[in-house]
Amino acid sequence: MSVPEHLKWQESETVRNLLKKQNNLLGDSLEALDHLIYLQKSINLLSSEEISRVMAEKLPYILSVKYFSFFLFDKDRKKLRLMSHNHPDLQPDLSIYQNDSPIMKESMASGRYIFEQDFASSRYFRGRRNKLFNSDFFVSIPLMIENEIIGVLNLNDNDKGFYNVGDLDFALNVSEFVALSISNALLFETVERLSVTDGLTGLDNHQHMQSLLKNEVIRCQRYSSSLSIIMMDIDHFKNVNDTYGHQKGDDILLDFASTMKKFCRSNDVAARYGGEEFILVLPETKVKGAFYIAERIREEMESQIFNHKGKDFNVTVSCGIAEFDSNLTKNPADLIKVADQALYKAKHEGRNRTVIGSP
Ligand code: GH3
Ligand code: MG
Ligand code: MG
Repeated sequence: MSVPEHLKWQESETVRNLLKKQNNLLGDSLEALDHLIYLQKSINLLSSEEISRVMAEKLPYILSVKYFSFFLFDKDRKKLRLMSHNHPDLQPDLSIYQNDSPIMKESMASGRYIFEQDFASSRYFRGRRNKLFNSDFFVSIPLMIENEIIGVLNLNDNDKGFYNVGDLDFALNVSEFVALSISNALLFETVERLSVTDGLTGLDNHQHMQSLLKNEVIRCQRYSSSLSIIMMDIDHFKNVNDTYGHQKGDDILLDFASTMKKFCRSNDVAARYGGEEFILVLPETKVKGAFYIAERIREEMESQIFNHKGKDFNVTVSCGIAEFDSNLTKNPADLIKVADQALYKAKHEGRNRTVIGSP
């Protein structure tokens, strides 16, 4: 028996519709895949700032949500810092205590995602219903690297009005490689920062200062701008260590570093030259300006009272200044040599003073 014509027609129409639907679905997932590949490519090896930007641009498409927020966790301060988001009503530099967000806190504590179909009626909700959202689902996914929480990804709202198991599964997978990229970038940035800073004082280290000073000298030679440096050395620091202990000595070095920073402008370079010797590189500064700053630092140090086991004492510092001279300064070493000789003179003349060097 053959199939009646009208049924045949109906059958092929159904198949056509089904195929069309399949095609659409496939098209959608191919587009999502495109975004995903783009995200994967661009967030690997980038800075954490760049990753935030790409996330804000791509994540909503890829995860088929309207809004997302990504918080980084600061373990020491128990705070969550907003790193990337696309909420119209969140402040960009938002930082909240972990305790102030019950849902994020719980997802972090359990190490598992939390999915609420209706957030406003859930036990986590403590505010007012947001008119911005059409649907009320909320997902909070803890981002982990080797059992350590590095942050939380929150997702909410879409046009479909619901979030299903497939969506969620996909989001969990994506969040895994986001976590990996972020933690790589953060690690890289930390290593980079550590390689240019002095471990004790947090000032620039000697090597980094040398390369910055080199650039400044080149700039002066090219544009005939001014540049001065101040070399500073704590007086009788060996005695300080011997009398009050090495730990107290370290405290004083830290204190001196923050005094230096206090008098620095944003383009100045404050560095630990080595031991108890420090250097300030002052671009766009003539010798008179440098002398003023050196004296302020010296006086501030002299007026500070330190205490050890009930005994008050103070510490002084000697300073030597050098100014860039287009005829005589050929390289950073020339400048440092002049400042060093001035510092030696300051020590020789009785310490706790500033001497201007002559090339
Ligand atoms: P002067 O007034 O001539 O500069 O005398 P001084 O004692 O400061 O100079 P000297 O070069 O003889 O001694 C420097 C001392 O600085 C010796 C060293 O133990 C101490 N020192 C260097 N680095 C550190 C540090 O990181 N921590 C501490 N606590 N002491 C340090
Ligand atoms: Mg000294
Ligand atoms: Mg010294």
